[in-house]
Amino acid sequence: MNIQEIYKLAIKMGIENDLRGTKAVQKILKRAKEKYDVMSSEKKKEFDTERLTNPFADTRILYGDPKKEIKKVLVGVDIGPGEVLIAEKLGVDLIISHHPSGKALADLHDVMNLQAQVLADYGVPINVAESLMKERISEVARGVSAVNHQRSVDAVKLLKIPFMCIHTPADNCAATFLAKRLKREKPETLGELIKMLKDIEEYKIASQNNAGPKIWVGSDDTSAGKIVLTEITGGTEGAKGIYEKMSQAGIGTVVGMHMDEERKKNAQEAHINVVIAGHISSDSLGVNQILDELEKKRIEVITCSGLTRVSRVKTSTRRRRLDPYIHFTGLAEADKLKPKTKVKPKTKIKPKAKVKSKKKSTKKKRK
Ligand SMILES: [Zn+2]
Repeated sequence: MNIQEIYKLAIKMGIENDLRGTKAVQKILKRAKEKYDVMSSEKKKEFDTERLTNPFADTRILYGDPKKEIKKVLVGVDIGPGEVLIAEKLGVDLIISHHPSGKALADLHDVMNLQAQVLADYGVPINVAESLMKERISEVARGVSAVNHQRSVDAVKLLKIPFMCIHTPADNCAATFLAKRLKREKPETLGELIKMLKDIEEYKIASQNNAGPKIWVGSDDTSAGKIVLTEITGGTEGAKGIYEKMSQAGIGTVVGMHMDEERKKNAQEAHINVVIAGHISSDSLGVNQILDELEKKRIEVITCSGLTRVSRVKTSTRRRRLDPYIHFTGLAEADKLKPKTKVKPKTKIKPKAKVKSKKKSTKKKRK
C-alpha cells in the first residue's frame, strides 16, 4: 500500500461512516465542484483541489511522495517534533497524526458544517443549527489562525519522513461504531449507557487509567431519553447556545468526547444530560478502525502519543489462542512474537480421556 492509497482509504471510510449519510456527503463534493468551475483563474490558483474529492479539510497528505510504498507506520493522536524524532529512530516509512497539522489544521473549522447537518438529522431545525454553528465556526477559524500550523511539517521535512493526518474520517468511524452499539443495546439510563461504553475495549483501558467514560450532567439512574452523538465528530466542540435547541428538539442525552465548563453549564440549564466518553480513548476508537485496514495489508503499526491500539482484525480462533497478543497488538506484532522454531502449542485440544490421563502422569512425575 502506498501513501496515496492509505489517504484514499481513509477518505472512503470517512464517507462511509459519516453520520450525514453517503448521499449528503456526495452532494457537498458536487457543490464544491460547481463552485470551482465558475471561479476566476486567480482564485483557482489558491483553491485546494483536494476539496473536489475529499470532503474532510482536516485530512491531508502533508509531506512525502504519495507513491511511496509503506511497510511501517508511526501513528499518534498528536504529532509534534518529539514524535518526529521517535519516528526517525524507529525507521518508519510514514507518520500518521490524528489531530490535524499544517494546512489541515488551518482549515479545521471547515469540517464543522457536519455538526449542523447531524443536528438537523436529530431534529434541530437546519436554519437554527446552521446559524448557531456559523458563529462557532468563525470562532474556531480565528482560534486556529494563531497556531504555528507548520511546526511538525517543518520537522518531518528536515528528516525527510512522509507525514499525513486523518482527523474527521477517524472520528466518523468512532461515531458510527457508537451509533451501532446504541442501536443494539438501547440503554435506558445513564448508568446503562456508561456500562455500554465501558464494554468497548478502548474505554475499558481508559477506565483503568482513570480516564474512562463519566456522567457530567445527570446520574446513574437518570433516564437517558434520546441519545445523540453530535459531539463525537465534526472538528471540535459545538455552539454554546445549541443545548436549549436540542432540548426543544426532544434530545435527552449528549455523548461527547470532551466539553468545557461553560457548555456543561448550558446543557445543565437546558436539562440535557451529558456523558463524556473520553477524548483520547474516543480518538483511539476511531483511528483503530482505519489501522485495522492497514493491518490487513500487513503494514506494521506502531502507536505513540496517547493512541491505544486495539485490533479488531478477525483471526481464526486457533490463531487467537496461539497468539495471546493478537487482540491488542494486531497481526504484525503477533507475527514478530511468534517463535521462530516450531514449538508445540501448549493448548492443543485433545480428547477428554487423554487429557485426564496426561494430567495424572504429570502429577506422578511431580511427586
Ligand atoms: Zn481529538
